[in-house]
Amino acid sequence: MLIDGAILDIDGPRPAYVRLRGGKVVEVGARGTDSSRGRDRRVRGIVVPSPVNAHTHLGDSVSVREPPIGPVETLVGPRESYKVRLLRESSREEKLRAMREVLLRMSREGIAVAIDFREEGRAGVELLRAAARATGVRTFVLGRPLARPVEPAELSGLLDIADGIGLSSARDETRPTREAVARACRARGKRYALHASEARREPPESYLDPRPDLLVHLAKATADDLAAVRHEGVSVAVCPRSNALFGRQPDLGRMERIGLSVLLGTDNAMFHAPSIWAELQFAYVASRLCGRPVSAPFLARAALVEPWLWLGEPERARIAPGSPATPLVLRLPPDDPAYQVATRVTEQLIVRGGPGRSRRLR
Ligand SMILES: [Zn+2]
Repeated sequence: MLIDGAILDIDGPRPAYVRLRGGKVVEVGARGTDSSRGRDRRVRGIVVPSPVNAHTHLGDSVSVREPPIGPVETLVGPRESYKVRLLRESSREEKLRAMREVLLRMSREGIAVAIDFREEGRAGVELLRAAARATGVRTFVLGRPLARPVEPAELSGLLDIADGIGLSSARDETRPTREAVARACRARGKRYALHASEARREPPESYLDPRPDLLVHLAKATADDLAAVRHEGVSVAVCPRSNALFGRQPDLGRMERIGLSVLLGTDNAMFHAPSIWAELQFAYVASRLCGRPVSAPFLARAALVEPWLWLGEPERARIAPGSPATPLVLRLPPDDPAYQVATRVTEQLIVRGGPGRSRRLR
């Protein structure tokens, strides 16, 4: 297949043609200079690296009804919330089936990796790993130990199978817990992440020390707080649709201006489908709605590039011959590719390669 149009990847947008074989890039060049001599099926569109959904709670997908209206703590907080009861009262099979269904949907939408905060200890991580099998979506699982104070044996067993730990927040966890978790993650080469300044502002020193690898939300962070996060070089996953449900918005415009590393996620699967394309569109429009506009290139990077850098796999964000990237073809006009990506992608416009279940590239 030959895609004539544009590339949008780690090196930015550019007019180009891309030849794909077996879902991999075999040739790239200036438009009109390809060597196929008309033999390949020709498609007009934009080629991008597969996106990463940088923040999910896929366990929540077991809920299919509209959640009650209330503050975020009573809905999805770590202690006796609507969500905690829901997870406890659902069977292993129900959770497995629900997670598998949303992962298959993510696969159809071209998602390569889901970075998930998985509750329920080691069993929770095992369940998500089982649900993801053969879906075509890789899970990067940040588990959560059950015992408080943290038990070293439990933490160690959890880190045997998880990619790291995702805690609720500095407000919800004691300093010794955060220190024990951060230290264990560091020692094992795993990631330590936590939610921060979601419903209420928290002082940056509470979530930046010990230093995390990823912060989630910062919807209530001040300009100085964001500057402190930037100074520490910590990446931030933002979830604008989830925040909007509770009347908040992260200041994406400022995050862009100060050069934060921002990743896009869809948060709790009980609130909405984990569609990164829907999240992009909402993020773009909502930033205008709240008078703090963010650029389309910044948002596109938050879905297609920054998460790959965070995962330590920058080569997966590059569309080039021999690249390990699994490219997606978006059947959209090749003009202004980032704007197309931020405002117009639906599942019907995606052609993908690789091991997923959607239409394969020839
Ligand atoms: Zn979250």
